[in-house]
Amino acid sequence: MLRRQLPCGESVPALGQGTWHIGDDPRRRQAEIAAIRRGLDLGLTLVDTAEMYGDGRSEELVGEAIAGRRDEVFLVSKVYPHNASRRAMGRACEASLRRLRVETIDLYLLHWPGSVPLAETVQAFEALRQAGKIRHWGVSNVDSDGMQALWRTPGGSAAQTDQVLYHLGERGIEWDLRPWLRERGLPVMAYSPFNEGRLLRAPALVAFARRHGRTPAQVALGWLLAQDGVIAIPKTGNAARVEENAAALSQPLSAAQLAELDTLFAPPTAASPLVVI
Ligand code: NDP
Repeated sequence: MLRRQLPCGESVPALGQGTWHIGDDPRRRQAEIAAIRRGLDLGLTLVDTAEMYGDGRSEELVGEAIAGRRDEVFLVSKVYPHNASRRAMGRACEASLRRLRVETIDLYLLHWPGSVPLAETVQAFEALRQAGKIRHWGVSNVDSDGMQALWRTPGGSAAQTDQVLYHLGERGIEWDLRPWLRERGLPVMAYSPFNEGRLLRAPALVAFARRHGRTPAQVALGWLLAQDGVIAIPKTGNAARVEENAAALSQPLSAAQLAELDTLFAPPTAASPLVVI
């Protein structure tokens, strides 16, 4: 398995599993649990969830899917900005731990920046870390100005990642945020690698995939996996699609294929605001 190193020195799989909307439909529950477990079998052991997803239903489903396999998993969850204060974060984390049926979250992220002062959020993360409730913390949907502000905050440079929107069709972070993170050894966690599925229907991607004997999903992931320091977390509730997505690992894109993709999905030529879903 291709791996990425966190600033703390620990490494995590470059391809993980997203879980937004998982657990929303009780009729799909067993298929979704099977999909996550199939992903674990294939080495997609970084599992990303959040207290927000389905009001806790995603965390509950993840808890069921990883039961008995906790040691295999690098578990990522996220706290709402309105719970990012010293008092509220403790309660929110306890609730996530209960739903996930685990004693520790491996990486706990601030879901997006809110009104709680960064310094207090950092203190809240550190208190949870000292209590053993989380092992590491990081942020999500933070732009490069926001990262610089975090770095100026006491303790803020202990963040392990910034989870942001990044896919072939949305490459804005390459202008400033990705280089900034790379200089400091932080991997980017690329969310919505298929733009919630829409990218997979882009005619240029469909035609490229057909020409090169892959599926659109494999090209979208292969491109992200070719980017230094990028972790991708595609979501699917379908075990066959997990297998299709995992196959991107065994067929890396060549330099010529990557260059062709640059002509179809151009890199940024100027700074742009961070796009957030
Ligand atoms: P994705 O870009 O991962 O796309 C998911 C969609 O693609 C689903 O509809 C899925 O359908 C479909 N899909 C998956 N694999 C295939 C395939 N091989 N062929 C065809 N269709 C496929 O969207 P998400 O927004 O879910 O992003 C991934 C994860 O990133 C989230 O689940 C979440 O964990 C995280 N995230 C974080 C955010 C943040 O603010 N920090 C914001 C958004 C996402 P099906 O399930 O039916 O297979």
